[in-house]
Amino acid sequence: MDNSVPAPLLEALRKQKYHRVGAHSGVKRCKWFYEALTSGRSCYKQKFYGIKSHQCIQMSPALFYCTQQCLFCWRAQNGDLQIAWDEVKLPKWDPPEDIAQGIFRAQARILTGYKAHPKADPQKFREAQRPKHVAISLTGEPTLYEPLGELLRTLRSKGLTTFLVSNGNLPKKLAALGEEPTQLYISTCAPNKEVFNRVCRPQVADAWERLNETLELLRSFRCPTVIRSTLVRDLNMGDVDGYAKLIEKAQPTYIEAKAYMHVGFSGLRLGFDKMPSHKDVYDFALRLADATGYKVLDESTDSRVVLLSKRDEPVRFSSSP
Ligand code: SF4
Ligand code: SF4
Repeated sequence: MDNSVPAPLLEALRKQKYHRVGAHSGVKRCKWFYEALTSGRSCYKQKFYGIKSHQCIQMSPALFYCTQQCLFCWRAQNGDLQIAWDEVKLPKWDPPEDIAQGIFRAQARILTGYKAHPKADPQKFREAQRPKHVAISLTGEPTLYEPLGELLRTLRSKGLTTFLVSNGNLPKKLAALGEEPTQLYISTCAPNKEVFNRVCRPQVADAWERLNETLELLRSFRCPTVIRSTLVRDLNMGDVDGYAKLIEKAQPTYIEAKAYMHVGFSGLRLGFDKMPSHKDVYDFALRLADATGYKVLDESTDSRVVLLSKRDEPVRFSSSP
């Protein structure tokens, strides 16, 4: 298969307001970046961990590539909109410094649109010109990007904190990162192999075993670690004991139980009714707390997410404006 990125895919992403950076990276304005600038509301990661929504860049170094095809994912997947490409045939990678400069330029372009916005808070607008945080979580699997450790180091050297979200399919890459993110997320969206294969639809062999290897590895990280479970009604909210076994293995600093949101391309695969309510998520979190000894620390009803931990309060990463 010719693996140049298909033009209709680029067009679909452009319509969804993705800003492409170099050959394979991208930035997209987060809804909470907008909310923080125009209404003073902020995302649950600001509430839980102190990072500032209006100083956050939401990006991916692997826009078109992933080892899973999760039903709930908002990214465009091979086959969506009748567009075909090989999601695990990797490109020639751009250098980390080029990606860093590119995401700053993309974020500056996004911010320009708020200069004359009647509701934009002038102080927040000024602060937003100096991003402080990068959420490496937009779409795609970031550990596929070969020099990921170097990218994390580059961003840290520029004074940014990083939250890295991985599907855990590449334990060897995570083990050899060289530079840790500020906080590491491993998406764990199934309690057992059968549900995993049905909901996360891996495209590489032994993905469940690889995820389990990553979970074993998690304890060796110095940074706070998070097991994040995106919960889809009727699909992956049963077998709480299965989740508890995975958590026991990984001993993460936090668990984030979070509702699937019917956004982006996920609407092509799942109905609106698959979004659990906040109460559903909270009830799930209470069952998980019972099964693991973790306790509920915080919640955000807007994002339908519940935070669990063995700590009494989360580690907060506040930075000066
Ligand atoms: S941390 Fe995530 S939710 Fe919060 S502003 Fe950044 S991208 Fe958006
Ligand atoms: S692992 Fe992440 S990027 Fe890949 S399909 Fe699943 S949710 Fe989407």
